[in-house]
Amino acid sequence: MNRRVPIGISNKHIHLSQEDLDYLFGEGYELTPIKNLKQPGQFACEEKVKIVGPKGSFDVRILGPARKKTQLEVNNADGFTLGVRDIPVRLSGDLEGTPGFIIEANGKSLKKDNGMIVAERHIHLSEEQGKKFNINNGERVSVRIKGQRGLVFNNVLCRVGDGHEAEMHIDIEEGNASGAKNDQLACIIDPITFTKDDILQQHETGEVIPMVGDLPYMDDEG
Ligand SMILES: [Zn+2]
Repeated sequence: MNRRVPIGISNKHIHLSQEDLDYLFGEGYELTPIKNLKQPGQFACEEKVKIVGPKGSFDVRILGPARKKTQLEVNNADGFTLGVRDIPVRLSGDLEGTPGFIIEANGKSLKKDNGMIVAERHIHLSEEQGKKFNINNGERVSVRIKGQRGLVFNNVLCRVGDGHEAEMHIDIEEGNASGAKNDQLACIIDPITFTKDDILQQHETGEVIPMVGDLPYMDDEG
């Protein structure tokens, strides 16, 4: 069975908590949606804020709706601009121990002690899509990107459940490395069988852990 999902490439952006939104834009402020995203209820906003780091700054767009915690998602190159190195690769909401930054908007300035992450690549699937693809929430798979710079992304976490819609989220650097374009279809080829601990061990020892099953050739259908 072909298990294909459209690719969504994320540029740097910020999710704000209602508390931080109130502080920066005024009590009870409502964001102005300009574009709905594929994930149900998520949207890009007209509003931008300025992010300030030790060495530099840039403007980022706000994505709505408001989240429980303020979270800044950047590419590694954006970290260089800000002067922040070794930004952890994390899933949304997992912010403990991540670097802080300053947000400026409307003449106000807000210092965050944490919340800067490089987003961990992942796939969204609805409950039904997960069943169809035989993929459970939390499972990790490999994904093949076709094309001249085509490659296989390993260790891609699947988030399956209500409120999700089939899409693979990668950042601009992963998009550039693979030559992927927005809405291009990526092929889930091979659930990997090693655990996160194995991967951490692999980083420490340089040991290469073989995958179960051969990867399909690039000219395979799908
Ligand atoms: Zn996502």
